[in-house]
Amino acid sequence: MSISQFLILVINSGSSSLKFTLLPANGDRPLFSGIAERLGTDGTASLTLKRGASTFIEPLAEGTHAQALQMILMHLRRNGWLAHVAVVGHRVVHGGERFATSVRITPEVIRDIEAVSALAPLHNSSNLLGIRCCMEDLPSIPQVAVFDTAFHQTLPRGAYTYSIPQRFYREHGIRRYGFHGTSIRYVSAKAVELLGLDPDDHGLVIAHLGNGASASSVQDGKCVDTSMGMTPLEGLVMGTRSGDLDVGAAAQIGRIAGLDLAGVEMLLNRESGLLGVSELSSDCRALETAAEAGHPGATLALEVFVHRLARYVGALATSLRRLDAVVFTGGIGENSARVRAMTLRHLGIFNLVLDESANQYAVRGMSGRIDQGYGTQAWVIPTDEEAVIARDAAWLAGLGESQSRIE
Ligand code: ADP
Repeated sequence: MSISQFLILVINSGSSSLKFTLLPANGDRPLFSGIAERLGTDGTASLTLKRGASTFIEPLAEGTHAQALQMILMHLRRNGWLAHVAVVGHRVVHGGERFATSVRITPEVIRDIEAVSALAPLHNSSNLLGIRCCMEDLPSIPQVAVFDTAFHQTLPRGAYTYSIPQRFYREHGIRRYGFHGTSIRYVSAKAVELLGLDPDDHGLVIAHLGNGASASSVQDGKCVDTSMGMTPLEGLVMGTRSGDLDVGAAAQIGRIAGLDLAGVEMLLNRESGLLGVSELSSDCRALETAAEAGHPGATLALEVFVHRLARYVGALATSLRRLDAVVFTGGIGENSARVRAMTLRHLGIFNLVLDESANQYAVRGMSGRIDQGYGTQAWVIPTDEEAVIARDAAWLAGLGESQSRIE
């Protein structure tokens, strides 16, 4: 088989969902993709499949990850693709300090992923569920793990160490790890290409703004600082996560509401952020519509989101030798001209002046420069985590080009 005939299956297995994308090894667009949702919940699980412009939905009576994967594989077989799948790439959320790059999955790797799971029990166990299903159904196909934390393993110790008694780090790995690394890796490499920067001499702050949100500093292709911590709760305001919060305030909330630590953690992960402030929605688009109609909670939520983001961009810039550009990505970063405009208004100190029409144009998958060219640049660059997972998987299965091409 020639390289152009090999296919790569990318799997992102979450607690109640399983996403997949089928891509050709030559880097062309995905052939087929989909998402199984509401797995393990109330019997309403379904699989949404997308091929070209058409979308179709199928019920999943058992509602398990195993059934979702079997259904996906049945579709791949029916279309004659399964025999061409040469490798499966899995997204894994937490790689701890053990994984600084993507790896071929072996029994030892699975044991190591389990060992770091104490740092992200919910995420890693869901990722492992997807890995185990694939290994069972596709035993002869190599499997590769790509970690959200890996790109941040270059953080200097001054950036990753929490100011707590160090026995918690030494004995339990309590430190900052950072997430969204796969996205940041893709977008930073793309920025170097689009801006014509020297790969060995540049500085970027990249804001990945989706339901989860984080920002990172990348210098000369390496991550040197990031806003998320040991878990994805630290840093920016997110859809339902508070981001940074005085731990004293968290303790007081627990006392007032009669919540134990797990209850407070849940409140800060699920009921806070844009949802908590707006008392309306966690969805940025819905909040923009409501703010335009004069909803005070929605207006405040967007203000708080933008204030925190701008403050982080300023702080993260201090971890760089110089700042060439601020880059927006993720669902909000790629589509919300309003959030970008509000953020640049806070960043005048970097001589960032918005180009209104370029900002309106850079939506729905369009890359573009959105500042007027007085100093630091501002860009919108759509992310593509699946492409990175597929390229690493191809490389580790001996099919593709070296990882260094995208680093
Ligand atoms: P996830 O982190 O789950 O992958 P996404 O990257 O898809 O999430 O981002 C979801 C967020 O992007 C939501 O808050 C959504 O409202 C926002 N978003 C998507 N399209 C727009 C838009 N046109 N305008 C404003 N926000 C948008």
